[in-house]
Amino acid sequence: MHLRDKSIAVIGGGIGGLAAALALGRRGARVTVFEQAPTLAEVGAGLQIGPNGVAVLDALGLGDAGVLASRPSAVVLRNGRTGRSFARLPLGTAAEARYGRPYWQFHRADLLGILTAALPATGAVLRLDTRIDSVEPEAERVLIVPENAGPVPFDIVIAADGVRSRVRSVHFGGSRPRFTGHVAWRGLVPADRLDPVFIPRETTVFTGPGRHLVAYPLRGGSIVNLVAIEKRAEWAAEGWTHPDDPAAPARAFVGWCPEAEALVTALPETFLWGLFDHPVLPRWTMGRLALLGDACHPMLPFLAQGATMALEDAWVLAALLDESPEPERALAAYEDRRRPRTSRVQREAARSGRIYHLRWPAAPIAQGGMAMASRLAPGRLLARFDWLYGVDVTRQASSSTQTGTWSEGFSQPRT
Ligand SMILES: Cc1cc2nc3c(=O)[nH]c(=O)nc-3n(C[C@H](O)[C@H](O)[C@H](O)COP(=O)(O)OP(=O)(O)OC[C@H]3O[C@@H](n4cnc5c(N)ncnc54)[C@H](O)[C@@H]3O)c2cc1C
Repeated sequence: MHLRDKSIAVIGGGIGGLAAALALGRRGARVTVFEQAPTLAEVGAGLQIGPNGVAVLDALGLGDAGVLASRPSAVVLRNGRTGRSFARLPLGTAAEARYGRPYWQFHRADLLGILTAALPATGAVLRLDTRIDSVEPEAERVLIVPENAGPVPFDIVIAADGVRSRVRSVHFGGSRPRFTGHVAWRGLVPADRLDPVFIPRETTVFTGPGRHLVAYPLRGGSIVNLVAIEKRAEWAAEGWTHPDDPAAPARAFVGWCPEAEALVTALPETFLWGLFDHPVLPRWTMGRLALLGDACHPMLPFLAQGATMALEDAWVLAALLDESPEPERALAAYEDRRRPRTSRVQREAARSGRIYHLRWPAAPIAQGGMAMASRLAPGRLLARFDWLYGVDVTRQASSSTQTGTWSEGFSQPRT
């Protein structure tokens, strides 16, 4: 109601920025998205969207996106050296039955394409090749300054400018990120480069001391997405576009089981991403300026929830802005609503990484416990994720400050 005809600038055309533009545009705001890249032809990589993210896509009218997604039946944890599987987290029909929504995996470019294609119907405009140099908050408006152009006023500005957000560093400070001592190689392996026996049918995590490898099929099994994580002292930069020699991940996984070795050695190209711990920011919003997605709560990738949290942010932000006549109050409420949940996801993601990399004797003990749990009560393993996958932010009572427990407005998992 209160968004009608508000002018809103969104800085950044990633998953978070585009979802915010859609959520705001559908409620009547006049939205312009500014993206510095000349095209959204995204570096190749997969993106897992849990049932909590699918809930947002559905509410944005993008339920059909599922035709481009893979639906893994399970996540299988395997010992990277022996190849033996020790735990199985059922997804597929189990997740769908429990949460009422599927678990999807996309090629990132496909999901960006789906979001972009939906923009025109909402009136939102995407301006590519337009870098925003600075943002100047004023009393009742915010000026943005595109590169090589003069300032442009907007009623509200949302900075979804990613993990290295300039708006965050200039206006919100926060302490410096700390290199975690882990790097991630990302890449796509065309299935025709692999012996068919090595193509994973389910999401597979090969674990081992100081390393792990995640593999899952995309686009009907024609490609396999790989994320290979290595613990190392040597620093690497944070970002999508740092190419590395594909022989580097192959060297890191020498001596692992034949499936893991076959996957990493088949990578035609790879990008290296340094993983950083970002302390929780003291503030995300200031008057009519707000951060969204990785800009305010970057997280380690071990729960595969960064983009999904950005989708949730987008929905909550639009719903609260629409509800209140005062944008400043609505943005403060957005921060209050989202902070506890995203902080928990940040913490849990870091914890998952530590578990994958356990050494002897902790590794066999942990693996034995998970094997037992997965054999005796597979549903219980999934239930551990109810706090994450079972939340549907599109059903939250918008004036409530509820953030993560089962209560009115949250989808109750069916046990
Ligand atoms: C190895 C790895 C695996 C991952 N796997 C998953 C997964 O399976 N599932 C999941 O949910 N998440 C995953 N993530 C996290 C996910 O990729 C991020 O959380 C997500 O991309 C954040 O989206 P965003 O829109 O906030 O930021 P981004 O996707 O980084 O988008 C920011 C955009 O802003 C633009 N921009 C920046 N500055 C400016 C400026 N000054 N002017 C204009 N434009 C600007 C950038 O060009 C970019 O397009 C993974 C991350 C990593 C590193």
